[in-house]
Amino acid sequence: MSKSRLVVIVDALRVDTAAQIVMPSLSGATLGEARSFGTWTKPAFAAISSLMAKSEGVRIVMTGGGWPQKIEWRGVAFVTVSLSPCINDLEFVASYAGCENCLLVLHDFHVHQYFIEYPGYAPSEQNKKDKDRFWSAYTRRAREVAPRLETVLQRFDGWDRYVTADHSELFWEDGKSFHHGKPAEGNEGEVRRVPLIRIGDAPELAYDDLFSLGGAQADTEQRLRALGYID
Ligand SMILES: [Zn+2]
Repeated sequence: MSKSRLVVIVDALRVDTAAQIVMPSLSGATLGEARSFGTWTKPAFAAISSLMAKSEGVRIVMTGGGWPQKIEWRGVAFVTVSLSPCINDLEFVASYAGCENCLLVLHDFHVHQYFIEYPGYAPSEQNKKDKDRFWSAYTRRAREVAPRLETVLQRFDGWDRYVTADHSELFWEDGKSFHHGKPAEGNEGEVRRVPLIRIGDAPELAYDDLFSLGGAQADTEQRLRALGYID
């Protein structure tokens, strides 16, 4: 049986924001970097859920947004906890802490939604003048999420725990791109650079391996068992 694993996806979290704002709130955390599967949420989660589908054990995605309802796709349950960040619903999320052989992915939208504070928002050249305002809303939301993240991680003590992102966010670093997804086309390298934080003694894993729990290994073992090579 595999150890249960929690992967928290802080939507649109940058590596520098993780280092400066999130890391100081987390106990026993080690910061690394990874390359995400896509430049925006939907393709990133298509890849994540495909990998989860190949995994063994109980597979659940809880999201605070991005999915309209409860769905089950290829054996992976998608549960929309609320329209706001899912880690606000701490009791509901923590009710899964006793799950065995469980791969639980939490998807929190709070940081991603910084721009909704500004009516008429659209990622465009005109918005460049408001760069500082957007940046301060983004970093304030990261400061709000960090202590809640620590509370959630503590409830899952005994699990292998990770914090990462589905993509990053650009604030005109290259002089032309703002936001992620289509507006950031041409700077895919930077928008797919994401933090990969390990908590405590969680093993170091490649980004792809975060989303399957003993899957590949189990396939090999099952095949060998079927051929009579192992009991
Ligand atoms: Zn996203």
